[in-house]
Amino acid sequence: MIVMKFGGSSVESAAAIERVAGIVKARLDRHPIVVVSAMGKTTNKLLAIAQAAIEGKRDEYIRQLHDLRDFHSREARQVVPLANRAELDRTLDEHFQELTELVKGIAVLGELTPRSIDAISSYGERLSSYVVSLAFQYFGLPTVHVDSRKVIVTDKRHTQASPHYAETYKRLAQKLPPLAAEKVVVMGGFIGATEDGVTSTLGRGGSDFTASIVGAGVGAEEIQIWTDVDGMLTADPTVLPGGHRVKTISFAEAAELAFFGAKVLHPATVIPAIERNIPVLILNSRRPDVQGTRIVAQTVPCKNVVKSIACKKKVTLVNVHSTRMLMAHGFLRRIFEVFDRAETSVDMVATSEVNVSLTIDNTARIEQIRKELSEFSEVAIETDQATVCLVGDNIRYTPGVAARVFGAIRGVNIALISQGASLLNLGFVIAEKDLRTAVAALHAEFFTELDPEVFD
Ligand code: ADP
Ligand code: ASP
Ligand code: MG
Repeated sequence: MIVMKFGGSSVESAAAIERVAGIVKARLDRHPIVVVSAMGKTTNKLLAIAQAAIEGKRDEYIRQLHDLRDFHSREARQVVPLANRAELDRTLDEHFQELTELVKGIAVLGELTPRSIDAISSYGERLSSYVVSLAFQYFGLPTVHVDSRKVIVTDKRHTQASPHYAETYKRLAQKLPPLAAEKVVVMGGFIGATEDGVTSTLGRGGSDFTASIVGAGVGAEEIQIWTDVDGMLTADPTVLPGGHRVKTISFAEAAELAFFGAKVLHPATVIPAIERNIPVLILNSRRPDVQGTRIVAQTVPCKNVVKSIACKKKVTLVNVHSTRMLMAHGFLRRIFEVFDRAETSVDMVATSEVNVSLTIDNTARIEQIRKELSEFSEVAIETDQATVCLVGDNIRYTPGVAARVFGAIRGVNIALISQGASLLNLGFVIAEKDLRTAVAALHAEFFTELDPEVFD
């Protein structure tokens, strides 16, 4: 068995779904279990609908719901057998009626809870998995649809739920292998349900994580993440196009890159894969013949010191300063308690005796954070920052990497430097406006000569 996950752009249209059917068909002998994301940008659209609802913009959310239904109907009709068209219409009607009621309910209440956000955003994958399973039949693939909410059991942390692994693995192992022996299993990524059966989601980009959970649960021989790039590249293509494909990378390196912004992989994806030692491949659904990136347990011998440069935009830097706390213990604890109470995770940190600088992604609770920190320190908050993180197993063994990094970007002002305890990354914070210049300079410094065993 293999797990094949197709991201939003890989199932964004009838033509894209047809390509996916071809890719799956060519691998039927490996008993694929197919995990799909919502079609195109559907998740963003669903969240925009929810937002319009709490803002009381009725005309807007009604129009957006119509557009989303039209989009699904238009694309699906081209890839659904004639005999199934009535069923398709009926199912789309049912889903959109339910969804519309939900959205109207939110508009009346004027309140959007994490639980209701999940209820709404789950429709993307519920619809896409249904459409793709009908389409596969049209393209001659024996297919069975599985509702992910019946097998992926999560905690109640809606919008960023974690799986209850033991129960989830038990259900996956019982249910999927017998089905996959006969047919192509199709299921939605991203979504699950709590033990009480309430719909939950694994967080944005979570379909990769679903694929990996499913892979571990059924003991798959491989987990394939099919997306819109050739694999893990040496730089984020939205910041610096023209990076090289990394052919092989370790789990530890991939996890670090994902955590520091390489969106091509959800950061939690490697967890189940590591546990069961299942290789993860990143592949391009538009160019299925390209070998992609293979993520494996062992470290990969490489002549280059850096494997890839990850970056994150829209980062906020929080500087905490307290002379009062000089020589006093408990300063760091108090700071981190503030972030803990605000349920805001901290990415990079640098500390000195009276100063702590840290970065956050999520600024939803920034005012609470500012207020609580101000009770015992001076706080300065800077928005429009970016983090850059160089990742490579060799960073830990190679002297002079820092000198090369900071030499390459000497014209750029650096707000914080952090060398991770894992020693396989070196990260820093700069103004977002300097991001492209910095990444281009670093890329030239570290990727002008390439180890042909590792890079394409
Ligand atoms: P999917 O919908 O298939 O899950 P995503 O948009 O979540 O796709 O992830 C793929 C995107 O990740 C790419 O289009 C690319 O812009 C971005 N990305 C960021 N960093 C990297 C990197 N180092 N290598 C490859 N892609 C990256
Ligand atoms: N559809 C979800 C999202 O856009 C999950 C995913 O695509 O991985 O975040
Ligand atoms: Mg993704």
